[in-house]
Amino acid sequence: MVCATPIGNMDDITYRALEALKNADLIAAEDTRHTLGLLNHFNIKTPMISCHQHNEQERSNVILEKLHEGQTVVLVSDAGTPAISDPGEVLVRRCRQEGIEVTALPGACAFVTALSMSGMPSRRYIFEGFLPTTSKERKALLDRLIHEERTVIFYESPHHLKQTLEFLKNGLGERKIALGRELTKRYEEMLFMSLQEAVEYYSQQEPRGEYVLILQGADPEAVAQESQQKWESMSFTEHMALYSDMPPKEAMKQVAKDRGISKRDVYSALLKEEE
Ligand code: SAM
Repeated sequence: MVCATPIGNMDDITYRALEALKNADLIAAEDTRHTLGLLNHFNIKTPMISCHQHNEQERSNVILEKLHEGQTVVLVSDAGTPAISDPGEVLVRRCRQEGIEVTALPGACAFVTALSMSGMPSRRYIFEGFLPTTSKERKALLDRLIHEERTVIFYESPHHLKQTLEFLKNGLGERKIALGRELTKRYEEMLFMSLQEAVEYYSQQEPRGEYVLILQGADPEAVAQESQQKWESMSFTEHMALYSDMPPKEAMKQVAKDRGISKRDVYSALLKEEE
């Protein structure tokens, strides 16, 4: 069973989670010392085994053996929902591959908590988790996000917050951002700023606590305008060449769609360019 645990406020544990943790044969925990605090709080004595980022592959063998014997194992991470920027994915996949039934006990998840209380557009969003660490991956991320119209959600620790805000500001320009910190805890806070304001704010203020960043998506009008300009700077022949792997009719359809014109107009323009 994949079991969510609170992200700060212990009262956010669910009845089902408590029952499962009490009745399980074994709890697989990201950090057994951390989960011991939760178990002690609720007077639960179930034995634990660690299952974290560095041993998940190997621990899965041990846990799968127990599951095959018919034991009940509950998987938890330090906070929130396992497998969401946390260990769990490997074990769950192995269970599924070996035909072991998996179920989830839903509960707290930091990004859902933050998004739901932010008032930012939440119909369509993407969750990026923690930013990648290599500059190559970061560059690729920016290339994707520059045209991403959906709300973008990140996780961030206080140590990297300033650097992350600067990175986003420099790479994406001015956008609105909501910063949710210490959610469900005593000093819970949701700040709303522009990226520039956030950079300035945290140059004066040391970041404290864990953060969820909710970033406004790219402005659809600006994206459309930019793409229009891109096509306009290209000849129709060059534009067609982008789709050289498609049958010519399909390529023409795509070019017409990109430029917001009819296929017939594309055809005439191509003929003119050939002359
Ligand atoms: N599995 C967790 C979940 O379901 O949200 C996420 C685990 S991830 C290792 C930890 C990150 O989640 C933190 O660095 C922070 O970005 C975010 N987070 C966790 N608890 C939070 C809280 N109470 N307030 C704000 N952000 C939190």
